[in-house]
Amino acid sequence: MQSLWNNREAAELDNDLLKLRVYSSRLLGQETDLVLHGGGNTSVKATSTDLLGDTEEVLHIKGSGWDLATIEAPGFASVKLNTLRRLARLEALSDTDMVAMQRAAMTDPKAPHPSIEAILHALIPFKYVDHTHADAVVTITNTEGGEAKIEEIYGDRVIVIPYIMPGFLLARTVDELTRDLDWSRKEGMILLNHGIFTFHDDPKESYNRMIRLVHAAEEYLCAQGAMALAIATGTTPVDHPTLAKIREQVSLKAGRPMIARLDNSAEARGFADLDRVSAIATRGPITPDHVIHTKRIPWIIASGETAELDAYENAYRTYFKAHRTAGLTCLDPAPRWAVWPGQGVVGFGKSHRDARIVTDIAAHTLRCIQYGEGLGGWKALPADRIFEIEYWELEQAKLQTTGTTDTPLAGKVALVTGAASGIGRACVDSLLAQGACVAGLDIDPKMETLSKTPMAKGLVCDVTDPDALRTAVEKTVRTYGGLDILISNAGLLPASQPIEDSDPEAWHRCLDTNLTGAMNLVRHAIPYLRHGWEPAIVFIGSRNVPAPGPGAAAYSVSKAGLNQLARVAALELATDGIRVNTIHPDAVFDTALWTQAVIQGRAASYGLSVEAYKRKNLLETEISSRDVAAMACAMVGPVFAKTTGAQVPVDGGNNRVI
Ligand code: ZN
Repeated sequence: MQSLWNNREAAELDNDLLKLRVYSSRLLGQETDLVLHGGGNTSVKATSTDLLGDTEEVLHIKGSGWDLATIEAPGFASVKLNTLRRLARLEALSDTDMVAMQRAAMTDPKAPHPSIEAILHALIPFKYVDHTHADAVVTITNTEGGEAKIEEIYGDRVIVIPYIMPGFLLARTVDELTRDLDWSRKEGMILLNHGIFTFHDDPKESYNRMIRLVHAAEEYLCAQGAMALAIATGTTPVDHPTLAKIREQVSLKAGRPMIARLDNSAEARGFADLDRVSAIATRGPITPDHVIHTKRIPWIIASGETAELDAYENAYRTYFKAHRTAGLTCLDPAPRWAVWPGQGVVGFGKSHRDARIVTDIAAHTLRCIQYGEGLGGWKALPADRIFEIEYWELEQAKLQTTGTTDTPLAGKVALVTGAASGIGRACVDSLLAQGACVAGLDIDPKMETLSKTPMAKGLVCDVTDPDALRTAVEKTVRTYGGLDILISNAGLLPASQPIEDSDPEAWHRCLDTNLTGAMNLVRHAIPYLRHGWEPAIVFIGSRNVPAPGPGAAAYSVSKAGLNQLARVAALELATDGIRVNTIHPDAVFDTALWTQAVIQGRAASYGLSVEAYKRKNLLETEISSRDVAAMACAMVGPVFAKTTGAQVPVDGGNNRVI
């Protein structure tokens, strides 16, 4: 591990204590071998003067819900140092009282909750304190005789603290163990099975000590030949159908739809294919801090049958019963990651973000387990120690503040065709806003720009190509784990033409896109929808179905055919719980089908202004793509939970339809 400190960058921070604190915190946060997703914490001690002119010593400490990699000054809570130091001397202090006392001692009550390790930071008699859960250091302590190995590496350069649950108890223990200690002779503090602290009055030195100490642990692992990892060779095709089934089962156990992310890197597959994987992967996490994201142990997939996950659930409930204390409620018994021989590792989360956090932690976990095995045997903390963190109210609170807010479609996976503009694009935006992960398909190459957010995937795809559709459906499953929502929207509107003059080629193109494309899409999607969460298909039809107009034979026939396809699909798929409903929009002018010139031409042919033409319906209202998207979202949600085979107009009211 190398120091990322840059003197020039640091010099630009005007010796501002907090700016330097932000700077070196971000350096630590960039290194995923040190901290992952909100792990670790940093602080700086300073004096602060309030509006009354009173000056007080404060601890600026990382606030809950902030990540070291991206932290900014408002991410630090400022707590009166004297209060924290006095708290450490109390005989006992409940978590609730600790949080209340810390909040009461904050100089800015709007700041986030201070880290649960605030009291410990306050006790360390240096301005800057850095704390990480460095993989190399924690791994060494997670092996047989780990403490002796730490001594061998560092001698008396560090203070060694046995594993104690973080929070007040840990702070008090450190206080007791270090009362007669000359801190200036120490470079850092190792917390067995947990992490490492470094400290100094100079931010650069505190940071560099972290790097040096962690580097020494890495060199030790290397010298012991413990850093070899199993790497799979070649590539393995992804087993999409089984992935969707795995996601379905985990979602059922969790009681909500879960996003599943497959890591099929050579490293993940190498680990999953180890002969002894089920023995070594189920000993526990790297550091207890991870348990709120990952649960204590993963699911080891053998065949992927339901009975396997039932066994996981039973084991989880037994673990809960064995360690529970009064007043605790069992969390959902679904695993958060799985080891899947032949395929790799899968992470599960109620949002894409949560699933990513889990897969990132899992990637480090499988490395540390192998390092630990290379060093005499991976040995995680016993289950009771992990349980107390998993069910610790302060950790649960942390999950609440960092977790996604519950949006109606969180954890669901949608696929929308014709997604680059108009109704399709509006559907994508509405689905994303409601928390779903969305794959958007379009023949328009600009579709790829949709992939800017990890919750959306833009796929360039011609719906008249059945193979391209199958690939797009598989890519969606590969990215998010399954498929719950299908919105068939892609379509084209040929130029107006009487039947007598109709161009056979235009006729075929229209039917191929609007009808056969939709049929092929549904055909490839059904096997996955069958394993989806409350699965639903929405067809974007047309007012032309109940009320066709002259000159639009191909379009009207294609949409009428689509309507029958939807009705048959509703009949066929009801037993699988897949709902199929159709929207018949009319006069939605903010789509690619309607150019300004076409609208003006149509308006003129009715002798109306463009404005009047747009509102030519019973309610005299203008209909937008967003209105259709809102109906589509309603149709895939709970309002339509008991409805299938319905056709709903979004047309402002039409005499001929009514
Ligand atoms: Zn920690």
